[in-house]
Amino acid sequence: MSWRDVPGVGTGHERWTERGGYSSDDRGGVMNDTRRPDRWIRTTCGYCSVGCGMLLGAKGNRAVAVMGDPDHPVNAGRLCPKGLSEHHTIAAEGRLTVPLARHGPGAAARRVGWDEALAAVAGGFRRILAENGPDSVAVLSTGQLVTEEFYALGKLVRAGLGLRHYDGNTTLCMSSAVAGYKRSFGSDGPPGSYADLEQADCILLVGANLADNHPLLAPRVLDNEAATVIVVDPRVTKTAMVADIHLPVRPRSDIVLLNGMIRLLMEEGLVDTAYVVAHTEGFEELAAHVADYPVERVVAECGIDAELFRRATLAFGRAERGFVGWTMGVNHSVQGTETVTLLNTLCLITGNIGRAGAAPFSITGQCNAMGTREAGAAASLPGYRAWDSAADRAEVAALWNIPVERLPDARGRAYPDIVDGVLDGTIKGLWIIATNPPVSFPHRGRLERALSSLELLVVQDGFETPTTALAGVVLPAAIWGEKDGTYTNSERRVSRVRKAVDPPGEARSDFDIFLALADELGLRDELYPGWKGPEDAFREWARVSAGRLCDYSGITWEAVDAAGGVQWPCPPGTAARGGTPSLYADGVFPTASGRARLWCVSPEPVSDKVNDRFPFLLNTGRTVEHWHTRTKTGRVAILESLAPEGWVELNPADAARLGLGADDRARIESRRGHLDGVPVRITATVRPGEVFMPFHYDELCVNRLTIDEFDPISREPNYKQSAVHIERSRSARAPVAVPSTRR
Ligand code: SF4
Repeated sequence: MSWRDVPGVGTGHERWTERGGYSSDDRGGVMNDTRRPDRWIRTTCGYCSVGCGMLLGAKGNRAVAVMGDPDHPVNAGRLCPKGLSEHHTIAAEGRLTVPLARHGPGAAARRVGWDEALAAVAGGFRRILAENGPDSVAVLSTGQLVTEEFYALGKLVRAGLGLRHYDGNTTLCMSSAVAGYKRSFGSDGPPGSYADLEQADCILLVGANLADNHPLLAPRVLDNEAATVIVVDPRVTKTAMVADIHLPVRPRSDIVLLNGMIRLLMEEGLVDTAYVVAHTEGFEELAAHVADYPVERVVAECGIDAELFRRATLAFGRAERGFVGWTMGVNHSVQGTETVTLLNTLCLITGNIGRAGAAPFSITGQCNAMGTREAGAAASLPGYRAWDSAADRAEVAALWNIPVERLPDARGRAYPDIVDGVLDGTIKGLWIIATNPPVSFPHRGRLERALSSLELLVVQDGFETPTTALAGVVLPAAIWGEKDGTYTNSERRVSRVRKAVDPPGEARSDFDIFLALADELGLRDELYPGWKGPEDAFREWARVSAGRLCDYSGITWEAVDAAGGVQWPCPPGTAARGGTPSLYADGVFPTASGRARLWCVSPEPVSDKVNDRFPFLLNTGRTVEHWHTRTKTGRVAILESLAPEGWVELNPADAARLGLGADDRARIESRRGHLDGVPVRITATVRPGEVFMPFHYDELCVNRLTIDEFDPISREPNYKQSAVHIERSRSARAPVAVPSTRR
């Protein structure tokens, strides 16, 4: 008897193959013939930064299937719902297939050829720059391109167009982690690896709902049964439900909690004094600062149980290997950067860095946010070099073979400051690449006013979006599955991304668009000497990164193929063993003193105050079925049917007081705008006085409500705490979104 004949195991595949229409595939098993690929292409998921390896099945020029890559070091064959249906994005409705031009807001878009579109972009930006100076054009990029494209774009924007104002949507999610790392350690760069989740004795997750946001990291936590898992989150998230200890802190009280933990660790003698003395600075000031955070204050301000707080702190302090992970619950705050430094401090004073299982670790959002951080020339010069360092600028100019004067001597405006520049008329031309600000940027009404006031808005994307609807020129781009390159995931692992099918119509890869635009500007040979494809960009970027913390110089596409993914730093000779799993193993940090800095941080109150008119605090976040603004997942039938519209989560006590039931819809108003027709979900996973909405939906866009306040250091938005009013919906059941004129 074959194992296939065991009840519950047998698939009965013989019957299906005999009936016809089904046949056996070496990798995929029995498959419907319409979906059985004629080849499997090894690639990396294009959604989140976990960076799962997958096999994309193609039949002719159609993507027909995906499966997890069993040999990939990140996911060992597993995928989440988004990854499992990712092939459906390629032939989805709404792809952009030809360049478009529009004469004025509201005018119909007209199909144009590539030559006309590129001439309009190059000529338009050149005219604006000539008439208004070098700061009158800006670029907003993304975390969705391949690293080779980010590197090419950075050269074009900085050395070609000479622009100072260039940022990406990565500022909406990870810039506080970047700024926090720089403050604590002297450089960006997540110090740990996913394997640490399996080796840690204690895993502390702060504002990180892995189960929804980074699904393929959750099994690593669940599989480590020996570890004490602590989740700090205002909501009882799916991740909190599987934790050993859940600390449901009040919004914005995480700084009080962390100061209190540090004080308690000091009191209990759980500081690694030898590490602190040898490798850090600022301990005495820190000790004096946290003296103001006794347990009584922590439990009162955080709203948590004193015994749970003690248990959590002591579990972390007594762990041989302690791991701290965080995402948007920390970063999406006006104090995000400072909170990140406290998480780093927690690890530093307990010696939990530079060892297996022991690290502070930011879990990145987009599939290649890391690639643009390292190679993109936006917030930093390539290789984490500093814009305000004459030596760094001179080094990059020499590597690029251009006069150093061609490089800006300052970073330029960050994303929210670019929006401000558009609104005050300073910036008149904007190029938006693979991002969708009307849905993703806080205070949508203000953002839409900005985009509508531009002289020239160029939007480059794979899909029609609310952003392309406002554009003067639309450049149709290839998406994941249609182009080659690499992504770098949260754990600094570089993996290959491969083309399986051709882009639709006249769409081109972003790489080809950048080279064609450089051609139009007469800069191609200077910027991209001898480049024929993205691998040429990778080789140059690897050379430019040599000797830096994010050293790619030992990485080649072939080495990535052989290892299935390589972690930087990877100087020559280290790719074969997969690169470097932990940063700072020697305790030496890239600061002036070589020591890590322990920062003192004090909490600031929430500014969008609740009152009788706006009595609820609105929290925002993700759901597992969707990705960002649903540009792709909203067009995948299985995902869309699982979560077709936005909703608001409300505590049962509040729902009863407002007279709202499970089938009701709500009208929600903030000081900036309102939404009507929002489905109500009544759940005790949110506390009384707090509500939660997912941020993916254009139709019920939570960013009509969110406050437009930003971290003063990282410029990341404070999406998390907006005061709102809720009542039964006054209108029909269909969702209605109406911008407010209040601000
Ligand atoms: S966890 Fe992230 S990278 Fe992995 S399949 Fe899901 S969306 Fe893709």
